[in-house]
Amino acid sequence: MARRRPLPYALARRLAGGPALRHLARFGWNPVRAPGGRGEMSEIDGMGTERATCLLAPNPSMMTLDGTNTWILGEPGARDVVVVDPGPKDRVHLRRVVDTVAARDGRVASIVLTHRHPDHSGGAKEFASMTGAPVRAVDPEHRLGDEGLTDGDVLTAGGLEARVLAVPGHTDDSVALWLPADRAVLTGDTVLGSGTPVLDGSLGDYLRTLDRLRALAADEDVATLLPGHGYRLDDPLTTLDGYIRHRRERLAQVEAALAAGARTAREVVERVYADVDRKLWPVAEWSVQAQLDYLAERG
Ligand SMILES: [Zn+2]
Repeated sequence: MARRRPLPYALARRLAGGPALRHLARFGWNPVRAPGGRGEMSEIDGMGTERATCLLAPNPSMMTLDGTNTWILGEPGARDVVVVDPGPKDRVHLRRVVDTVAARDGRVASIVLTHRHPDHSGGAKEFASMTGAPVRAVDPEHRLGDEGLTDGDVLTAGGLEARVLAVPGHTDDSVALWLPADRAVLTGDTVLGSGTPVLDGSLGDYLRTLDRLRALAADEDVATLLPGHGYRLDDPLTTLDGYIRHRRERLAQVEAALAAGARTAREVVERVYADVDRKLWPVAEWSVQAQLDYLAERG
């Protein structure tokens, strides 16, 4: 699958904290709030379900919200656990994950990455060397060991069952994990605890992914979404319907601009975002281009 040009994380970081941030939602970005304080962190840290426990990495920022959620998955009382997204290369955090597993007399059977972004994957190799566990990822560059990660794979460890769902869109290598026993889905960055993610993959893929997750949530009566950043979401259908509506509304704006004569991303931006600070136009243009790609793909 073709990779689009990289998203302007650097640009987003430069804008972080400025008044410009308020306008980002108009471009389909909705990071919405500054990194959480200690109170919010303590609510996220330790949250979860019977089989999933969150350990919050200390890397808050505009792009990572409160920080990256590392998940420990295991059957109650079982020794073997799966660790999802060890997080950034932060020795203190990785050590805390190791200690938390040890405190339940556990053993890390495997490490799973929801996608390649460094705030999820950066610490994976170091965590693997601390635990001796293999790293399973869609992207071969991020694997350690023989096993990849494919749609339909069932991860088992100590009686735990986690089903792998390919959910491209945030990135082309994104996966979610469905825990039937807890009626919970680990969403990585495909669905966030607040706001909506920036897309580093294709919008067409992302819309299909949202429809797929929505169908799963309805068919299996999913009770909770466990995101890669932010707090758990206990009303999956409302969350997913909101995501789908948000993307459709943005697309309608672009289509209206095209109907009014705009031909390029720049021309769409000039029409739709005329009143917005020009410093933000490159971000808007990047986001609009993703939507134009989608419209072209859809035909
Ligand atoms: Zn990401």
